[in-house]
Amino acid sequence: MTELAILDRPSPNIDARDGTVDMLVIHYTGMTSGAAAIERLCDPEARVSAHYVIEENGALHRLVREEDRAWHAGVSEWGGRPLLNDCSIGIEMVNPGHEWGYRDFPEVQMQALETLAQGIVKRWSIPPERVLGHSDIAPRRKDDPGERFDWPRLARIGLAIWPEAANDPEPGRFLDIEGVMALTRAMVTIGYDIEDFGKALTAFRRRFRPDSLRSGSPDNVPVMRDFLIAREVAARYPAATPIQPGVILDEFIQEDG
Ligand SMILES: [Zn+2]
Repeated sequence: MTELAILDRPSPNIDARDGTVDMLVIHYTGMTSGAAAIERLCDPEARVSAHYVIEENGALHRLVREEDRAWHAGVSEWGGRPLLNDCSIGIEMVNPGHEWGYRDFPEVQMQALETLAQGIVKRWSIPPERVLGHSDIAPRRKDDPGERFDWPRLARIGLAIWPEAANDPEPGRFLDIEGVMALTRAMVTIGYDIEDFGKALTAFRRRFRPDSLRSGSPDNVPVMRDFLIAREVAARYPAATPIQPGVILDEFIQEDG
């Protein structure tokens, strides 16, 4: 693994952590250029920051030391735990985002991310299920890093999770009300804030069924594929205590045959 050259550009938008690092959050900048994004992340008036920014050419900037709390997550929640700036490291991937011409993350940018993230998860013992997207922990407000972010690629080197059920493109039938309830319980168990279920489902699909958002016909009708993926992830990587016994999920899936 090659050494990464780090450009230090300290941001004033920091304070002390109230907790230990146990989560890594991936963002996109959602601005027209990397320079503009770094400017904003260092602007005291903006009151936002991140630990790192990776440009599309792979250049890596450190704005906040990992020991300090950066202000990247905002109002956020995972597995019932709020205030995730306390326990997380934030990486901003430069990309115009959905507002300014969302595009693929270039190979050199992904390589830089992989090298950086491997060091971070090792230093802080962060398990792969706690490497998350901003939209996972703030589904009501955020869309980043979005459906073009290559989670399977990170999963192949142990930097994220990718469930078996997500490899099957078949959406399956629409869920009935029992199925939607089971899906909801599984999503809560995984860690999602489901207060706005439609937005939570979209965030879940950005993460685990990205093709469903790239096909150009987005919808919010829960299907069997959503449930199968959620059930697998909830069983293997629960962030929250299951709110219903797992047997209920099993009963439901047997009904479907
Ligand atoms: Zn973000």
